[in-house]
Amino acid sequence: MTRQLVGKVAAVTGAASGIGLATSEAMIAEGARVVMVDRDQSALEALRDKHGDAVLPVVVDLLDPADCATLLPRVLNAAGQLDIFHANAGTYVGGELVDADTTAIDRMLNLNVNVVMKNVHDVLPHMIERGTGDIIVTSSLAAHFPTPWEPVYASSKWAINCFVQTVRRQVFKHGIRVGSISPGPVATALLSDWPADKLREAREAQSLLEASEVASVVTFMLTRPRGMTIRDVVMMPTNFDL
Ligand code: NAD
Repeated sequence: MTRQLVGKVAAVTGAASGIGLATSEAMIAEGARVVMVDRDQSALEALRDKHGDAVLPVVVDLLDPADCATLLPRVLNAAGQLDIFHANAGTYVGGELVDADTTAIDRMLNLNVNVVMKNVHDVLPHMIERGTGDIIVTSSLAAHFPTPWEPVYASSKWAINCFVQTVRRQVFKHGIRVGSISPGPVATALLSDWPADKLREAREAQSLLEASEVASVVTFMLTRPRGMTIRDVVMMPTNFDL
């Protein structure tokens, strides 16, 4: 079968683990070169060893404003162009609001909202100049079905959904497609505070998604013909009853 992303360059943030890793590897399988952006240098080096020239590792701490601002120049320096940007890095704060650490809330809002907006702001001029580009943002089912155990996290993803829906309408005229994925719980390191038996039960009850499932939806969105929009895809596990 023809690989559908040959000749494309993608940049994925939070690419060393979980959903970002799975989407990076799915895009590589479709023939793209992927600039894998993460703060985890050793994981990126191992991925470069695994995939060779298809991986262009860029070590960035997105929560460091100066480092974050270097993202696009470093992507272009590594790959020369940018066709696909997956703004995926994010973190989680859950539980009772009164128990939440305000520094952790600040870091989460910065990474899940401010950094995504700044990254998209920074990559757009390059895509506008080329008259083409695809941007996908990782949101969450939490934004669509806010539950009482994650008020700040759900709000961060709600904010980013609004951002996606408004920016999409601004840049459509430039040939740029903007979409989002909103998965329910996915078996990744983000759930590392879940006890092993809860994870196992959730998998058995089919109330968890696998990162590879999310990745296959992303490649489906990206390989739609250019005349088609890529929209916002909500991914509900078979049993959403956690
Ligand atoms: P993960 O913890 O497996 O991966 C996150 C990656 O981001 C890691 O490689 C980490 O090193 C990187 N990262 C974190 N902070 C960074 C920083 N400051 N600079 C650079 N890199 C940084 O998590 P995941 O589950 O793959 O989450 C990815 C996205 O998916 C997040 O936006 C998350 O909110 C969203 N999401 C996750 C789930 C889930 O249940 N896992 C569900 C819905 C949405």
